[in-house]
Amino acid sequence: MITRLDLFIHRMVSQRACLDHSIAQTSGMTQPVFELGLGNGRTYHHMKSHIVDRDVYVFERAVGAHPDSIPPEELTILGDVRETLPAATDRFPDGASLIHADLGGHNREKNDIFARFVSPLVEPLLAVGGLMVSSDRMYFENLVEQPLPQDAVEGRCFIYRRE
Ligand code: SAM
Repeated sequence: MITRLDLFIHRMVSQRACLDHSIAQTSGMTQPVFELGLGNGRTYHHMKSHIVDRDVYVFERAVGAHPDSIPPEELTILGDVRETLPAATDRFPDGASLIHADLGGHNREKNDIFARFVSPLVEPLLAVGGLMVSSDRMYFENLVEQPLPQDAVEGRCFIYRRE
């Protein structure tokens, strides 16, 4: 039986593996990185520590992260992503090289409904050759699902690419 602890560990291990893989795959791209959902700031902290060549913008409705993981004000896009993502298409005409989304809570059904809603808002923001990493399955028209890196667990993280 897979326990809740197992699922949690699988999610964390998969997030790190998918982020490390995607950061490496997109290095050399010049467009910024987007973190959708700051939460405690653990994944933001990891991304900031490993991404030195690009700005990391955070989309979050209310910043309440660990003090070590608070993004600078000028790189924080406050508000509901259902409004801030559509507005970002004008501000970032070249898109993002990497988008990480961890916007869900504990209810998988609600997460799926939200992922369906937000997918068409995320899709136009990814640059050609860019990668999108998500804790939830996304519903894109033109982004192509990628194989996961070795340490990730199927179904706990997803990677999509704009070809
Ligand atoms: N990856 C983070 C970490 O490592 O600490 C955890 C992110 S937490 C699971 C989800 C975050 O997404 C919460 O901080 C929540 O406020 C944010 N969020 C959820 N729905 C949102 C929305 N519609 N607009 C903006 N932020 C949202």
